[in-house]
Amino acid sequence: MFGLLINPRPHQDESLLGYLQRLAKANGLPRKELLTAFARADETDVADWLQMMEGPLSWPAVSAEFRDPRPKGVKLWTTHHARYCPICLGEAGYWRESWGLTLVTTCSVHGTELHGRCPNCLKETDPSAMSANSCQACGTSLSGTNFEIAPASDTAAWLTSGFEDRFYADSLPADAGLAALTYEQFHELSSRLAVRSLPTERTQPLKVADSGSLGMV
Ligand SMILES: [Zn+2]
Ligand SMILES: [Zn+2]
Repeated sequence: MFGLLINPRPHQDESLLGYLQRLAKANGLPRKELLTAFARADETDVADWLQMMEGPLSWPAVSAEFRDPRPKGVKLWTTHHARYCPICLGEAGYWRESWGLTLVTTCSVHGTELHGRCPNCLKETDPSAMSANSCQACGTSLSGTNFEIAPASDTAAWLTSGFEDRFYADSLPADAGLAALTYEQFHELSSRLAVRSLPTERTQPLKVADSGSLGMV
């Protein structure tokens, strides 16, 4: 689709937006140019490219969200904000796809909270940071161990492993129940619970969530 000379292989759990910017860098292109080309490309060209790349699982869904963002609700994938683990970035050098899941806020490798801002200028990090693993506003590096590290809370870590287990599992258990939910269904359920626990809910009568759309048996 891009007709580029250098096409590095994606890591098995690499973020699509992280990869595209790594691809731009490898070919000496401005990151924006490649991202814009990807956003505006023909639907069939993108589908062909995704199939040819045999990239990580999240790529088709993130590609759809990036090219045509859905306006409402708690999105499964976040494409305008980029969270990161500075230790992982320092060790592995690339952005993991699971950090792009809206409800994933911790690093499962290090058991810590993900960062969402530049440690220096405190600007919220967006995908432009993936281009050089640094803050685009002030140039501060986002990788390394020289960061304030907060351990993940049990709930947040549970949520992260809930997603990653489903994401990377070869097959889901055959019996019904929580364990048998796909990661999309797990997101649906978790985001309802999260919305339900907001303080504003106290002023409204509680309704039983409609679990029909979860497709549970
Ligand atoms: Zn990490
Ligand atoms: Zn900064």
